[in-house]
Amino acid sequence: MCLFCKIVNKEIPSNLVLEDEDFIAFHDINPIAPVHVLAIPKAHIGSFNDIQADTMAKITIFIQNIAKKLNISKSGYRIITNIGNEGGQEVKHIHFHILGGAQLHWPKLT
Ligand code: AMP
Ligand code: ZN
Repeated sequence: MCLFCKIVNKEIPSNLVLEDEDFIAFHDINPIAPVHVLAIPKAHIGSFNDIQADTMAKITIFIQNIAKKLNISKSGYRIITNIGNEGGQEVKHIHFHILGGAQLHWPKLT
């Protein structure tokens, strides 16, 4: 079972932000911004390459609710999903990084 499936199953503890029937969101263990939350489907889906459009539609609403709950909707934030090796994906269970709480910059990526 992958790391994030273990978090879903509460075999590994996490600092939960929001949970519903299909998704959970928890604070990243190694934050790179004042707000750094990961939103994931409870079902194991490898990456953005494998996600169904209806699940994307549902997680859109879930992420909007996280942003409201953490009070970053108005100030602004960033959503990132890394895909595969060159995309920098370390955990092979799709996750959306939700980053905010400060002015974010756009670094040189290569
Ligand atoms: P990625 O590089 O896009 O696959 O992102 C994986 C993210 O998972 C990184 O930002 C890690 O800091 C984060 N991470 C790894 N293990 C844990 C954990 N046990 N709880 C919360 N976040 C984690
Ligand atoms: Zn998984």
